[in-house]
Amino acid sequence: MYKSQKGRYKPDRQWPANSSDPFPMEGDILVLQFINTYRNRSRADRKDLLGSYTDFIAWCWEFGMINLDEHNYLDLEGYCHADEANLVWQRAVKLREALHEFIYGPMRDREVHEIDMLIFNELIDEANAHLRYELDNNRPRLAWIEIEDQPKGPLLKLVKQAEYLLNSQAFDHIKKCKCGNVFLDTTHGKNRRWCNPLGCGQKARMKVYRKRIAERVMGEEATVMKIELIDPKFVGEVA
Ligand SMILES: [Zn+2]
Repeated sequence: MYKSQKGRYKPDRQWPANSSDPFPMEGDILVLQFINTYRNRSRADRKDLLGSYTDFIAWCWEFGMINLDEHNYLDLEGYCHADEANLVWQRAVKLREALHEFIYGPMRDREVHEIDMLIFNELIDEANAHLRYELDNNRPRLAWIEIEDQPKGPLLKLVKQAEYLLNSQAFDHIKKCKCGNVFLDTTHGKNRRWCNPLGCGQKARMKVYRKRIAERVMGEEATVMKIELIDPKFVGEVA
């Protein structure tokens, strides 16, 4: 990887951190990393990393949305109230797919489906019902209320993060990598092509390199064959 690219791209950790890493990080936009929990959407080796409520809150903990105590509490809540937790997990997956559609639909010149708008709006309404201005150092600040102990708490926080991204200028600079992962292009020239230059970028560069080598070898073989055909000395040896 070129030095200049390294400077522009600062992953929290390189991908893959290790082979057993359940949620490899690429970049620093929480909502995009949430969308990328459906890994490699465009490839045959696609994999959904959110297979349960347990997976969902493990992701929330790893990405700093909740602390370890909150995670452990919600994990137990999810165990004791499995139906409620299951519903939250299903809504989280629906939200993820709706957010993907918000990005990918316009890219493909495809109208975003009403269902995705409905899912998003319902969650935003629920999240707003848990937000209130409270005094903090004698200054009104927006605060979450009655959400900490609820299994859906992290989901509501996540949808507000998505709302923030949707209304920011950054949304126009979200791109999709060949592997299917989405990423925010923060480069000056907006010319970043890969979700992770250390992952997909490296693979692509290796592919081009191997193709060039193969073409060169084939070219050399063709030259040898040409020489074989016109060199009577060589033809004689073969005969
Ligand atoms: Zn990629």
